[in-house]
Amino acid sequence: MTRAVTRGRTIPFFAPDLFEEDREVLLDLVRRTGTVAGQRFILGERTAALEEALRATVDGAEVVACSSGTSGLTLILTAMGVGPGDEVVVPAYGCAPLGNTVANLGATPVFADIDPVTMVVDPAEVERAITPRTRAVMPAHMFSVMADMPAMREIARRHGVRLVEDSAVAQGGVLHGRPAGTWGEAGVFSFVQVKTFGTAGEGGVVVTHDAELARVVSALRNHGQEGPRFVHQRVGLNSRFDELQAAFQLHRLPGLAARLERRARIAAHYTERFAPLAERGIVPPPPGRDGRCYYVYSVLAEERDALERHLAAHGVASHVYYPLPLPHQPAFARFAPPGREWPHAWAASRRQLALPVNPHLTDAEVEYVADTVCAFAAGGRAA
Ligand SMILES: *Cc1c(COP(=O)(O)O)cnc(C)c1O
Repeated sequence: MTRAVTRGRTIPFFAPDLFEEDREVLLDLVRRTGTVAGQRFILGERTAALEEALRATVDGAEVVACSSGTSGLTLILTAMGVGPGDEVVVPAYGCAPLGNTVANLGATPVFADIDPVTMVVDPAEVERAITPRTRAVMPAHMFSVMADMPAMREIARRHGVRLVEDSAVAQGGVLHGRPAGTWGEAGVFSFVQVKTFGTAGEGGVVVTHDAELARVVSALRNHGQEGPRFVHQRVGLNSRFDELQAAFQLHRLPGLAARLERRARIAAHYTERFAPLAERGIVPPPPGRDGRCYYVYSVLAEERDALERHLAAHGVASHVYYPLPLPHQPAFARFAPPGREWPHAWAASRRQLALPVNPHLTDAEVEYVADTVCAFAAGGRAA
């Protein structure tokens, strides 16, 4: 293991030069979008072209661009009529939008525990959480593993509830030949910078094979306006998409497959290197390509905080995601029934550590990260 790889700096978690190659293009797009004759800055022809281009990546499903992944989930839940008195089953471990989107509609998020290794929601726990008030289940793909969507579809069918797929992190993931985002009645992708198709700002899309749902979502994103201007069929919100982001994403789309492939290879290499570490308290995600996504590469480490310090001391940035399960967050305390526990979510929040997997890492940097983790497991800890 040679520290020379880091050249005295820290191997970054997120690529600091994410858009370096696109700098000139971006500047040109600002000028061109800003000076276009129609002065149409939102929901114009570039947005429509991006929606059309993305359809080809999701088996021809409808794609509706909106202002973020979070607003995509809100649009879907709103279109499904979720509101006060309804319950939506969501994972107990994950990001805040899983609880926020449901709570902001006046509905109740009901938290279900996760699988202890893959960290996605456990289907048996989802089923256990269903009550007569359940309106929908909303599993999320996590870090590098897609949720068990065949099981979720079966549960939704059996109980007659709606299925929303939080695929915000899983653009490009495929399970059993079927793209992430198309397993639920509707799914979302997020374009926030850190996601795999991140942009230089905010954005997202709703993906659905249900044309009627797409039509309603499309109206809701622009204040419920449909047909003639200033005529509102339903109470909507402002969740529109920006023409500049659309143009930039159209420019970035052809390179997405290669960037995803690079992430997948880095992840596969880490998993191969870390497989023998399980007995030393560091567990990598399961190997393979099916049902994987490469947003974040996470290990579960018994001595997570010490590993994080060891990596930092050797110039490797790592991140703890979600140090508190959702029902333990002050914001969601009122949705955590007294006495109810989520032991696997709790364990994950204590053990999860994410390593750099961004596609700009060099092979030498990847090897250095892997060596540094292996040295920790072998007992060569930083002082
Ligand atoms: C990022 C993310 C979201 C929200 O996407 P934004 O574009 O940031 O609003 C929702 N769900 C999950 C699982 C995410 O990781």
